[in-house]
Amino acid sequence: MADLASVGMHGMQTSGNNVRNITTDQWAGVATDEIEDPRVWAEVIRQHVTLHPEFSFMPRKFKIAVGASAHDRAALRIHDMALRLHRNGAGEAGFEVMVGGGLGRTPFLAKTIKPFLPQRDVLSYVEAVLRTYNQFGRRDNAWKARIKILVHDLGVEAFAKQVEAEWQSVKDGALALDPAVFAEIAARFRYPAYERLEDGPPALAQARRADRRFDSWMGNAVANHKVPGYAIVTLSLKPQGGTPGDATAEQMQAIADLAERYSYGEIRVGHEQNLVLPHVAQRDLAALWRALDALGLATPNVGLVSDIIACPGLDYCSLANARSIPVAQEIASRFRNLDVARDLGRLHINISGCINACGHHHVGHIGILGVEKNDEEFYQITIGGRADEDARLGALIGPAVRYAEVADVVEDIVAAYLELRERPQETFPQVVERTGIEPFKERVYAAR
Ligand code: SF4
Repeated sequence: MADLASVGMHGMQTSGNNVRNITTDQWAGVATDEIEDPRVWAEVIRQHVTLHPEFSFMPRKFKIAVGASAHDRAALRIHDMALRLHRNGAGEAGFEVMVGGGLGRTPFLAKTIKPFLPQRDVLSYVEAVLRTYNQFGRRDNAWKARIKILVHDLGVEAFAKQVEAEWQSVKDGALALDPAVFAEIAARFRYPAYERLEDGPPALAQARRADRRFDSWMGNAVANHKVPGYAIVTLSLKPQGGTPGDATAEQMQAIADLAERYSYGEIRVGHEQNLVLPHVAQRDLAALWRALDALGLATPNVGLVSDIIACPGLDYCSLANARSIPVAQEIASRFRNLDVARDLGRLHINISGCINACGHHHVGHIGILGVEKNDEEFYQITIGGRADEDARLGALIGPAVRYAEVADVVEDIVAAYLELRERPQETFPQVVERTGIEPFKERVYAAR
């Protein structure tokens, strides 16, 4: 902890029944579709709730996420509380407040209790939600103690009413946000001294034309940046045959060097288990790609079928019922042809080795959950889940299947999707939404 502190990091409230670390979008501050940098708001809230005496022993842990973009990259609706910054009809920025999301054995998506909260009220409202949860959340049963159960049991309207009453009593007091305090925190988020660069330099287009592999990586792993001439680069930690989300110490050292050289020293982590270099000059993309390719970190499969989220499962986790990693590896090997994967478009497979759902299986387009039956590993398969701005929980397609069958089942589901989709742009979750699970179920179980 002392070593972490020496580089400005801490582990406060990373355990216990308190507010855990506040998360946000891995593209925060550089995304073209955000209306403000959400990290500043995450930090304003963090400073308020860290070591807050009233919230150091709540019924259970409490996770908050903040987003500020049209496209949700922070999985907002699977958090205990989420704040989405947006503009109202008058053009003012404020928060949509959602509560009661979470996965695990009782999954729920967070529900909106306040469509538009003025920015000055963010601390008082967070406080009102935490107080309401602290007062009414169950403490007699750890499995029923999260806010999602309270919101479900009380009903979202009744919960919102309690929060509102509490909020009215505190909103105009000391918790109204002081603009000077906000400005002081915002000033600590320093942006790199970006150069004035040409957007879309001709040399980049030339390099893309000259090398098909570079072109395919550009189309997959590189996103537009707020600042002209720069790009956001995602490093896939899902190489063919690798363990999803793993990087070796040597790779991490090399990534740190590349970040120093090409991304103003900054590396971020996303919940999809990939890394991001947020500030890469477009003129450097070809050189960066060559370096990443040599390290095995330039697989152009970000967001594709082989970009699988998998928890450690039975290989490492003492709570597991079943293996996750080899399942992910087998599925990825079935879809190693990147042309096929590209044709499928975005397709998220999420795998958890037990009901705790660390692999977010409920919100995978295809979700895979390891269960144990008579000392044997079985897997329940859900489809149609998603963790973005149209978040949904996946639906179970039928009885659990054996370890050896999982990759075959995934292939059947993907084959059904290809037959059912009406145009190439219709994504997997859109097809499931339109057709329901029946055609997928038939395909999978008729064959068995
Ligand atoms: S989902 Fe279960 S098996 Fe996987 S890491 Fe979490 S607790 Fe372990």
